[in-house]
Amino acid sequence: MSQKESKQEKKGSHRTELYTEVPARCLPIVYSPEYNITFLGLEKLHPFDAGKWGKVVHFLKEEQFLTDDNIVEAREASEEDLLVVHTRRYLNKLKWSLVVATITEIPPLLFLPNFLVQRKVLRPLRTQTGGTIMAGKLAIERGWAINVGGGFHHCSSDKGGGFCAYADITLSIKFLFERVEGVSKATIIDLDAHQGNGHERDFLEDRRVYIMDVYNRYIYPGDGYAKRAIKRKVELDWGTEDQEYLQKVELHCEGALNEVRPDIVVYNAGTDILDGDPLGGLAISPQGIIKRDEIVFRAARRRGIPILMVTSGGYQRKTARIIADSILNLQRQGLVGCGAADEAGPSLAPGTACGPVCAGVPTPAR
Ligand SMILES: [Zn+2]
Repeated sequence: MSQKESKQEKKGSHRTELYTEVPARCLPIVYSPEYNITFLGLEKLHPFDAGKWGKVVHFLKEEQFLTDDNIVEAREASEEDLLVVHTRRYLNKLKWSLVVATITEIPPLLFLPNFLVQRKVLRPLRTQTGGTIMAGKLAIERGWAINVGGGFHHCSSDKGGGFCAYADITLSIKFLFERVEGVSKATIIDLDAHQGNGHERDFLEDRRVYIMDVYNRYIYPGDGYAKRAIKRKVELDWGTEDQEYLQKVELHCEGALNEVRPDIVVYNAGTDILDGDPLGGLAISPQGIIKRDEIVFRAARRRGIPILMVTSGGYQRKTARIIADSILNLQRQGLVGCGAADEAGPSLAPGTACGPVCAGVPTPAR
């Protein structure tokens, strides 16, 4: 720890609340009730379930994988934290409700005073952003981490869009590069249905970051400039189904990690690839999504490479259940959980309850 701290001082990095110690009893799963956007029914005007993050955690608690005591509470990213990547010009623009309405694609926000937009929309997104930064450090410490939110892959240092107001993926990687000894290479595996043009623009000239992106070639954002940052580009056609998709994901995950061995994998696990998603235009089944996440985790964990997962796009009503089921599957496979520690590989017996054991406290009688 003292090594890391001295590096922090040497670099003259600002003081952040996002890198404080997390008790060993906690699983490296980051979440806050603040993630969820609920305000005067405005959230219903966007074609998505703005409470999906809370529902994921609810399902994981129902299955006793998570408890109030073993989850890591996300903190809001401060302005100084955001300035590690964002320009002040961009952050100032978010003080205009019109700009936020455009970025989030919730037009009625235009008519709200900015203090309400800040409190009800941007604060949840800043908290999710803080969560991704926190989960980056946890992934290095524990071998894996999941932010139940985040994955705002259309936002870059100076531009938001597609519901993404903060560049959480870029931020978590830059925080690691600046503050954690021994982290100098990252691989982003972006499997959301959309092209991740935000982090691509941010890392366009940065050879430390290897980007693999698998997306529907015909939909938003079609950012040709940003595509130049992609080392492994897999463009899919409308209605791509499980078999073809999973084959490609496995082939290219293995290929990417064989090509360059990073110090961290950031996995953008968007679920808008799900069949019937109004935006994604692909046709992957719930079982296909669960298998996909398993393939990515296995590829990283087998090599002993820390992996950070963020949940990104996908806002159908059934999405939260699928994300929860996928995390439970990762646990059954021994790829996450308190037994799945750093580089130790799978060591947890299938179906072993993890939280209370990990916490080292008696199971609360409930
Ligand atoms: Zn998407």
